[in-house]
Amino acid sequence: MKNHTLEKLLTDIGIEYTTDFLDKLERFYFLLIEKNRFLNLTAITEYDEVMRKHFADCLFVLKYQKFYGGQRVLDLGTGGGFPGIPLKIFLPDTEFLLMDSVRKKLIFLEEVISELGLKKISVVHGRAEDLAHLDHYREQFDLVLSRAVSNLSSLSELVLPFVKTGGKFISYKGESGNEELLRAGNAISLLGGRTEEIIEYELPGGDRRSLILIKKENKCPDKYPRRAGTPAREPL
Ligand code: SAH
Repeated sequence: MKNHTLEKLLTDIGIEYTTDFLDKLERFYFLLIEKNRFLNLTAITEYDEVMRKHFADCLFVLKYQKFYGGQRVLDLGTGGGFPGIPLKIFLPDTEFLLMDSVRKKLIFLEEVISELGLKKISVVHGRAEDLAHLDHYREQFDLVLSRAVSNLSSLSELVLPFVKTGGKFISYKGESGNEELLRAGNAISLLGGRTEEIIEYELPGGDRRSLILIKKENKCPDKYPRRAGTPAREPL
């Protein structure tokens, strides 16, 4: 057990934890690394690096965003479960939906959910461009999170249609956050959003990251998102 690494990391960044959360995060690490031999889930595999660059990074948002029981949160383009799984471990009462277009990744995440005994969390397979036009997903989420999926303009077209009016979109970015935001202004307002804040932070060890907080102020026009592939090819 290397829990002390995790304990120190979370203490350093100021996030509260229980031993149960630490144990679950660590078990998730081993499941991830095991499956990563067959499936491309993470480029980094070394224990300390995964703890820092994936887990601590995913959890940083807990310092800036209030979560509550019953809140509906979507992780769009979850891949190996980032940020959805680490956050779910820390937020037992929040409802999570993990979405991805690659079915094998979701089968892995279902295994993780069952192995760790996580509740109030489910997965859905499909492309955001298609799922966003279904009534039971469109404008149904209080909060949509997305990490390392695409540039902010095309990502806004995928994400904002899922967010309720009055809800929020939080985009996890690296150092390029400010620059991407400049180019995404048009897309964000067209889709009913308004940029609230950009939070820049540093992971222990020095990597610079940012979180872009976008409020959904108006309904998103029905025609968005456009057909699968178009948002990435022709950003608004
Ligand atoms: N969020 C994870 C994975 C990033 S990789 C992390 O931070 O590590 C991007 C993921 O988004 C991939 O798993 C890919 O399958 C998914 N994805 C990309 N475009 C998508 C779309 N249009 N709809 C749904 N999922 C998508």
